[in-house]
Amino acid sequence: MTELMPAELGDLSATGAALTERYTHSLMNTFGPPKKVLVRGEGAYLWDADGKKYLDLLGGLAVNSLGHAHPFIVSAVTSQLTTLGHVSNFFASAPQIALAEKLLSLIDAPDGKVFFTNSGTEANEAAFKITRKTGRTKIVSTVGAFHGRTMGALAITWKPAYREQFAPLPGDVTFVPYGDAAALEAAVDDETAAVVLEPIQGENGVVVPPAGYLQAARRITSEHGALLWIDEIQTGVGRTGDWFAFQAEGIVPDLVTVAKGLGAGIPIGACLGFGAASELLQPGNHGTTFGGNPVASIAGLAVLTVIERDGLLANVSAIGNHLAAAIEALDHPLIGGVRGRGLLLAIQLTQPVSDQIAALAMEAGFVINNPIPDALRLAPPYILTKADADSFVAALPALLDKVEVP
Ligand SMILES: *Cc1c(COP(=O)(O)O)cnc(C)c1O
Repeated sequence: MTELMPAELGDLSATGAALTERYTHSLMNTFGPPKKVLVRGEGAYLWDADGKKYLDLLGGLAVNSLGHAHPFIVSAVTSQLTTLGHVSNFFASAPQIALAEKLLSLIDAPDGKVFFTNSGTEANEAAFKITRKTGRTKIVSTVGAFHGRTMGALAITWKPAYREQFAPLPGDVTFVPYGDAAALEAAVDDETAAVVLEPIQGENGVVVPPAGYLQAARRITSEHGALLWIDEIQTGVGRTGDWFAFQAEGIVPDLVTVAKGLGAGIPIGACLGFGAASELLQPGNHGTTFGGNPVASIAGLAVLTVIERDGLLANVSAIGNHLAAAIEALDHPLIGGVRGRGLLLAIQLTQPVSDQIAALAMEAGFVINNPIPDALRLAPPYILTKADADSFVAALPALLDKVEVP
């Protein structure tokens, strides 16, 4: 692809050090210094600006569901872009309609409708506005929750360090301990507009609630006429081995938000409403310029099509189970266990050294992530092979042995 790049675009092939230096002068310091400058990806592998190759076990933060440069996605997006790239939402396009239909077909519920966005946080903003249209304002969220960084999504996000400096945020939000059905039962009443839950808390370190938690949430919200809003932005689109993680509990939510893995790297999100919740937004209530544009929509449609065609849900479960079992079998003193489901896994550490291990892994050619001090997160592409997974497991003990325990 590089040779097709028009030379007029300037010098895009400097060294990692030179590009990092330019980054610090031209980009706001919101993410800290970049770990690497990356130039190319193919399948489950990445290459940096200095030619070093990595196995991508983070998948662009649970986004690159089909890895990098997947030929089917490249061809679908390219052909859409050369046909019709963007239209305003005064007009419809076939890819957008087909993607909405396809998404709804994955959930066993009648009367669903979709609102498309460009990101996860915007999908949650749409859902938040829908909850206000119930005529109630009270929202129940959970301790440890992450729902995004825009003001509405931030109001339902737990971490005080993210939230407090931006007060006042949209109000009437209470937080209850995650995974605790009794706490939820006590917090929800007839004034509650919605309960918002991640089926597995991703940013909080892949925290899996006890079995039956989502079923309890469904029962409690139904009893009080409140909406159940499931944030599948990280867990959805096959990441846990089901199309949506809530399906493991056999429930149907009122609102489902998705993003990350849906576009496999092309930005797209969606808010799905079911039943009465699908009718609450009416003309003039909400909008977006880019949301559901033809290119983003065709990417989403291509992703769902490939996952289905190639049987990738089964691969996610099989490789995820294999990876988790193989890491636990290492029986290393720094590893306390593996949690998660499918290809959303956390390696629980017995010491708060996740930053050191992530850095050592990078040096050894593996991209992994340290969401919290005592856990590492893996969210690799669904196309990960057993051999890829085994290469990481084989390298892990030597990495862990280099860690300096405080
Ligand atoms: C990443 C994430 C978001 C925010 O998505 P963005 O695309 O970064 O805005 C919201 N909720 C959950 C559960 C997420 O993991």
